[in-house]
Amino acid sequence: MVPIGSNPNVDYDSIVVGASPTSLFEAAAMAEAGKRVLVVDRSDKVGGAWSTLSFEDLGIVECGTHYLVDLPNVYPFMEELPGLVLTLLEPPPEYVLARSILGFRRVSFTRKWGSQVSPRLYRGEFSWRSLRNLISPYYRSAMGILSPTPRRKPFKYIVGGTPALVESLEHVVRLGNFDLKLNGKLDDVEIDTISSLVKCRINGDMVCSGELFVPGSAKLTHVLINGIDTQLPGEVIENVQVHFLVDGAKEKKMSFVQFSGSQFAEMASDLTEFYRPNTERPNSRLLSAYVPSDVPRTRSTVEAIIAELKEAGLLEEQARLVDFYWTLVELPQRSREELDKISNLGQGLIRTLYTHSFSMAVSHNAAKWQPAIQEITSSFEAESSNPLSNAEYGKA
Ligand SMILES: Cc1cc2nc3c(=O)[nH]c(=O)nc-3n(C[C@H](O)[C@H](O)[C@H](O)COP(=O)(O)OP(=O)(O)OC[C@H]3O[C@@H](n4cnc5c(N)ncnc54)[C@H](O)[C@@H]3O)c2cc1C
Repeated sequence: MVPIGSNPNVDYDSIVVGASPTSLFEAAAMAEAGKRVLVVDRSDKVGGAWSTLSFEDLGIVECGTHYLVDLPNVYPFMEELPGLVLTLLEPPPEYVLARSILGFRRVSFTRKWGSQVSPRLYRGEFSWRSLRNLISPYYRSAMGILSPTPRRKPFKYIVGGTPALVESLEHVVRLGNFDLKLNGKLDDVEIDTISSLVKCRINGDMVCSGELFVPGSAKLTHVLINGIDTQLPGEVIENVQVHFLVDGAKEKKMSFVQFSGSQFAEMASDLTEFYRPNTERPNSRLLSAYVPSDVPRTRSTVEAIIAELKEAGLLEEQARLVDFYWTLVELPQRSREELDKISNLGQGLIRTLYTHSFSMAVSHNAAKWQPAIQEITSSFEAESSNPLSNAEYGKA
């Protein structure tokens, strides 16, 4: 067997698709284990789904409503990342249903997170999965209400939100022992199981690797395995999101809301305001909501969402729409089973990671990622406490 890091026939032992947090942690862990690793992302920045958008009237907005669930290991692991600080989310997040169940519409978010409502539902596809997704928010909510001792666990979020996480990831990239290629799109993959080679075409150049790491959201539909064109199961679906500013929202009633089963909005949040208070407009609140892709992207849709929020008691009656922007986000829809199938098709040369939920990925993999992250963090702390080695020093 060829020892790790010494196969002369490959440029890298592992190529990782995507510079999402999970891909970067995985790359750092593989590099720590002695592998030569390349991370490749078609975008021009790290963070993957954890990114921000900039709008003229709304300022910097989190692309997607993010939260960190208190699954085992998640908060301790995140608190170890270089320069990252978590804080308690106050008021605590809530889970809001479009209709009341047992007389309740709002319940504590902590035990009922993640409605998993799939965009597939809105494309007319019917499956057990779509039925389960449809029912699960109501089921979880009922369980929460009926539960004899509802726990109100503290809920944490990143101080500085997504930009702070991205900054921390940039330190991971800088201090980790792996290569990163941004603006690099992985187009084609050829696998040769006889010679254990994975040939990746990145921006037209062929790069040879011992294995390929494919997260759930990689835009890769086919691979050539021993000359046979093989379709990979699962897909990444574009979903629509609206960001809007409302005026007259004096009381801050929510920090994060999962609004489930609504005709218009799957999720609404003013989490962005949590790290970036809108000082210019003290009465305003910035909200984000996912909407089904077939809902018209008009002002009346946004007003309908606002009406639903008011009806649920989440927005003051006097609140009115100031401005709104629509964006597209890519939602990975690959399930664990689909990722297992991809691994099997890759005959050991493709590795996958279930990342539909970042928190779940961290919870499952924290022990594996921790040694590399600890090493990166200690170099970061040593560097920060030594002004002479601070990269900024030379510029001063
Ligand atoms: C809008 C949104 C909000 C979310 N919010 C949460 C949350 O609050 N909490 C939570 O636990 N989970 C959340 N998730 C789940 C999310 O899947 C995880 O947070 C995590 O980021 C997923 O990591 P990933 O590597 O699968 O994908 P992503 O973060 O989507 O990253 C994939 C990266 O791969 C790159 N890429 C894809 N294909 C190619 C290719 N062929 N060549 C080169 N580069 C490629 C993309 O540019 C992208 O940067 C959210 C997802 C989305 C889309």
